[in-house]
Amino acid sequence: MTSTDQERWTRVKNRLRAEVGDDVYSSWFARMELDGSDGDTVKLSVPTRFLKSWIQSHYAERVLACWQAEESACSRIELTVRSAVIRTLTPKCNAAEVALPQREPREIKINGTDLRTTIAPVSAAHDGLGGSPLDPRLTFETFVVGRSNTLAHAAAKQVAQARRGDLVMFNPLYIHSGVGLGKTHLLQSVAWAGNSGAERKVLYLTAEKFMYGFVAALRAQNALAFKEALRAIEVLVIDDLQFLQGKSTQAEFCHTLNALIDSGRQVVIAADRPPSDLESLEERVRSRLAGGLVVEIGSLGEELRLEILKCRAAAAKQHHPGFDVPDAVLTFIAKAVTHNGRDLEGALNRLLAHSKLTAQPVTLEMAEREVRDLIRPQEPKRVKIEDIQRVVARQYNVSRADLLSSRRTANVVRPRQVAMYLAKTLTLRSLPEIGRRFGGRDHTTVLHAVRKIENLVNTDTGLAQEIELLKRQLQE
Ligand code: ADP
Ligand code: MG
Repeated sequence: MTSTDQERWTRVKNRLRAEVGDDVYSSWFARMELDGSDGDTVKLSVPTRFLKSWIQSHYAERVLACWQAEESACSRIELTVRSAVIRTLTPKCNAAEVALPQREPREIKINGTDLRTTIAPVSAAHDGLGGSPLDPRLTFETFVVGRSNTLAHAAAKQVAQARRGDLVMFNPLYIHSGVGLGKTHLLQSVAWAGNSGAERKVLYLTAEKFMYGFVAALRAQNALAFKEALRAIEVLVIDDLQFLQGKSTQAEFCHTLNALIDSGRQVVIAADRPPSDLESLEERVRSRLAGGLVVEIGSLGEELRLEILKCRAAAAKQHHPGFDVPDAVLTFIAKAVTHNGRDLEGALNRLLAHSKLTAQPVTLEMAEREVRDLIRPQEPKRVKIEDIQRVVARQYNVSRADLLSSRRTANVVRPRQVAMYLAKTLTLRSLPEIGRRFGGRDHTTVLHAVRKIENLVNTDTGLAQEIELLKRQLQE
């Protein structure tokens, strides 16, 4: 694949995102990748069958249109499901793990090495059964209990405290919630507790890791040993089950689940939705999952957010004695940052970084500045006038020289006005400065253009959408 392909792909993604909006984009397209293009066919892939069929039935034409806007020769999109095998072979497959921020991952190793580094032949499956990294900070001690997570916490605690041979009360324990509400925290707490106190063999795996492990074992013709090793685990903890894909891995997961549950071993699972909504899983797996205890974690209330922040701040202070966060600041963040636990953590990390780098105390004012974009998710990026001219020219099929020229035909006047309006709203340039950059026009001309477009967007929804799209493209 050439680098122009990649660049084009980036533009197509931007276009798509601008058209469908951030939410839709991240739900359906964030994991779509370009596999190549040949002649008139573009090859794209997604990680699950479900995504594939969803995109095909809802967005096929959109995606094609976005490609055609960048590459008119394109007449067909071929969408496939990436196989786990191919993904394990490309270094890219670890991108998610590499991208994890500032944590100091530790491995639980059951008699052996980490799968990530030993994807090549797994000599004996018990050697290959490495767990996913555990974050030392995610334990029961640091988990704050509130109304929205009481039940999930109690159930996880119960599971973690059980001893070998105890009657298993809820099996599987299935925890679900939106992102950042503490599922991984609870699951890792269970893993830590099991590995230290109760001395049961606990294996914590993300669903993706489970797949990679299984596929690697298959390739090494060691699937049987892999299965047996898995079934020797006393507590199996699987995170992000929504990512489990592939017929054979699902079948394997199903066998493992049945084998463990039937022999009284504990299974704990987290996912971003209830079992019934795991549309890519087979019905029998879903019903098995729903057969234990299914608990939802609700969104974090303001009180709970404040408590979490207090704990986090106190923990940070242990490592960074000078890091004092006044209560007023914590209250402000708890009120302002409403999304989820990750943003809370992000907010505190920024304060910490800022106070370390500038050696200044944390104040309300600094907090307001630092977390601004966590409150308003898209902090506008700095946009250049040249970029505006380029993007607008492309959108309206005129040249940049046309925009700067003195031509007054309708097909350039409107784009020119749009470009000036965008220059005024997306940059900090003054009207005279903008005039100069548009072929030496007077600032009153710019003002007129800005007012004109301002009025039009209120009445002309087509134009308003076009402008919204241009803005997004520019701010990407
Ligand atoms: P999920 O797996 O549900 O997406 P995580 O468990 O990764 O969410 O939580 C995101 C962040 O929020 C983590 O830093 C986690 O420690 C923190 N967090 C979430 N809920 C709590 C809680 N009840 N107490 C303490 N920290 C929490
Ligand atoms: Mg998680």
